Amino acid sequence: MTATVLPRRSIVRARWLIPTAGTALDGGWLRLVDGTVVEIGRGPAPRSATDLGDAVVIPGLVNAHTHLEFSALERPLAGDGGLPGWIARLVALRRVAADDPLAREQAIRAGLAESLAAGVTALGEIATAPHSGPDSELPAGASSALPPAAPRMRVYRELLGLGPAALPRARAILAAEKPHRDPRWLPGISPHAPYSVAGPLAHHLLARARRLRLPVATHLAESADEARLIASGDGPFRALLDGLGAWPVPAPDLLPAAEWLTLLARAPRGLVIHATFLAEAGPDALDRLARHRDRLAVAICPRTARLLSGRLPPLARLGATGVRIALGTDGRGSAPDLDPRGECRALVDAGLASPAEALAMATHHAAWGLGMERSSGRLAIGHPADLAVIATGPTGDPHAALLDTSARVVATVIGGRIAHGTLAD
Ligand SMILES: [Zn+2]
Repeated sequence: MTATVLPRRSIVRARWLIPTAGTALDGGWLRLVDGTVVEIGRGPAPRSATDLGDAVVIPGLVNAHTHLEFSALERPLAGDGGLPGWIARLVALRRVAADDPLAREQAIRAGLAESLAAGVTALGEIATAPHSGPDSELPAGASSALPPAAPRMRVYRELLGLGPAALPRARAILAAEKPHRDPRWLPGISPHAPYSVAGPLAHHLLARARRLRLPVATHLAESADEARLIASGDGPFRALLDGLGAWPVPAPDLLPAAEWLTLLARAPRGLVIHATFLAEAGPDALDRLARHRDRLAVAICPRTARLLSGRLPPLARLGATGVRIALGTDGRGSAPDLDPRGECRALVDAGLASPAEALAMATHHAAWGLGMERSSGRLAIGHPADLAVIATGPTGDPHAALLDTSARVVATVIGGRIAHGTLAD
């Protein structure tokens, strides 16, 4: 991941410029100074402009939900058995990988490179261990320095546990970890999910997030089996947890989805991941989502939902609450790649969103969900020059054209650095 820095002052023009999803400027141009957008124009560009031709320039894509540690997988794990069956396969894989932290670090780097090639400039990442933390904790051979063109990230530290030892363990982990030294990687907390985090740990983590002003992210209403476990303590999830030796005696205090929503809204920003079954998760879950839409966003991962539950997220019912909906790819354990345009296509092809609506979910709604709306998701005056250049050929409908499978990401720029590809006439 090398990076070329654009000249201090530069202008780029293309057939189409989309500064914010839904707003397309025919013959638009951008003036950049020191990696920041200072002017947005339309029509004849100043003579020094680099003309990108038949391309669409969009804000860098924001992938709201990833697990980069699985980026070395060539294809997703099988989805049979739904979420509990998939988790059993994932846990087996992780137990093997736990012996090789360098391989984990390399998978994360591969995921970052793949993201840049897909036009992604910011991600919401779930970390089960520190990412390239202080040197003393690094595996031999790994570098603690971020590549010059790494995407911006909200790194949510994942914590879980159902038994009485879970809370002291989480306290010890959080006390021992130092924040990443590079300001491009911002901290967050991820209480994993309702079936893996008992009530006392959930309350502790949300109190901490509120005190330290940290965004949070939790997998919620991801499977019908999840609601069954919470309601009655049995079903496929119980069998999974028993098999892993993770179901404690006495039984844990599990929180229903609606209660989780109220808890997540205590943080300055909360990301509800998946929500595929939220409409069925008790009568007031959607009402609570609506009530907290100034703090909560939903991150959907359509291809993962289709693999693990055989259906797409309930976009219309979630959208009716007024909550912002972000798009994520999830990790390569459940998705074929880390390309948010693939998730956009899944929604558009199913008739659930227009190309412009899907692009909004993969840019400014995702950035808001991560609490990164000041740096990412829009090209606006005073914002960093985070953009993707997508070659489309001649087109009259840039939103549809950039999602076409023939459209190619030819350059990804982060804060005025060319992180992938080239910008050339
Ligand atoms: Zn996930």
